Amino acid sequence: MTTDTSNPTEQQPLIMVIDDSLDVHRLLRARLRTEGLDIDGKMTGDEGIAAVQEAKPSLVLLDLDMPGTDGFEVLRLLKDDAATLNIPVIVLSGLHSPHDKVTAFDLGAIDYITKPFDVTELKVRVRSALRIHQLLDMLSQKAQIDGLTGLYNRAHFDQRWAQEISGSARHGRPLSLAMFDIDHFKSVNDTYGHPAGDDALSEFATLIQQACRENDIPCRFGGEEFALIMPDTSPEDAMTVCERIRTTLGEKSWARHPERKITCSIGLAGCDGAADTESGPWIEATDKNLYAAKNGGRNQTVSTVLPSKGPRMAEAG
Ligand code: GH3
Ligand code: MG
Ligand code: MG
Repeated sequence: MTTDTSNPTEQQPLIMVIDDSLDVHRLLRARLRTEGLDIDGKMTGDEGIAAVQEAKPSLVLLDLDMPGTDGFEVLRLLKDDAATLNIPVIVLSGLHSPHDKVTAFDLGAIDYITKPFDVTELKVRVRSALRIHQLLDMLSQKAQIDGLTGLYNRAHFDQRWAQEISGSARHGRPLSLAMFDIDHFKSVNDTYGHPAGDDALSEFATLIQQACRENDIPCRFGGEEFALIMPDTSPEDAMTVCERIRTTLGEKSWARHPERKITCSIGLAGCDGAADTESGPWIEATDKNLYAAKNGGRNQTVSTVLPSKGPRMAEAG
């Protein structure tokens, strides 16, 4: 049994088998060997959940009847977590009763195969689940891109923010969130026309994208407001990023209106470790700072350091 949860060959889909029987692991590895898949496995529900959260496989094959955390509970926990919600789960179980099947489907299983299973049928169902997963992935990626700026849209923001905030709380890692709002943008539209406003939005989006790190998640929050999720970034470091974006925007010259500069106001709220703040109040704190930046005269960043549950990372070393 390997404990390696990384996906060694990115091109091959990773399947996570969660089953308390070593025979089932051996059998599945042998039978699915020719399918071009990477197979990893865990013998308990708890280990399985941790491995799925870490490795984000393309498919989970899940036993129901296991000591400790059983398959129903594993399913419930995976479907409750935004980070693992969309990973398809095929139940592979010795339980045959309609009640067990209905419960598994109600909890979010994509398919249910009873043991002993027919290998050809198993392969077909695995392929079908992987195909559906791939299509859903593609559709959801397309549905999460903003048409004008090419940044992620609000739907993606909501999803990623939930993931990042729970990841930060779980691992005690710093996290920062910034909201950008262009100053007097209505007057850009009114003076130079809507196409000039659109250009400003898409160039500002590019500027944000270029100024942040690969790991950061820039999104169009709505209208002329942008959000930047900065994982593993303390509020102090996030302030540096925000100030770089703000000053770069302020200095930029515009082909359509060389005489008119564009500035933005920024609200920032971040935490150095496991945040003691829920998603909603965190966004509200960021928003409050954005309005403070507007009221303070615009073209500035206002920041808050939110309290963390444990010792601050910097102090803990
Ligand atoms: P403030 O400094 O207080 O933020 O003032 P503002 O004028 O930027 O704010 P306000 O909320 O009054 O105006 C926002 C403007 O953004 C109005 C709206 O027409 C414009 N806007 C929103 N989405 C788009 C878009 O996709 N394209 C263009 N060109 N304009 C947009
Ligand atoms: Mg606005
Ligand atoms: Mg504005």
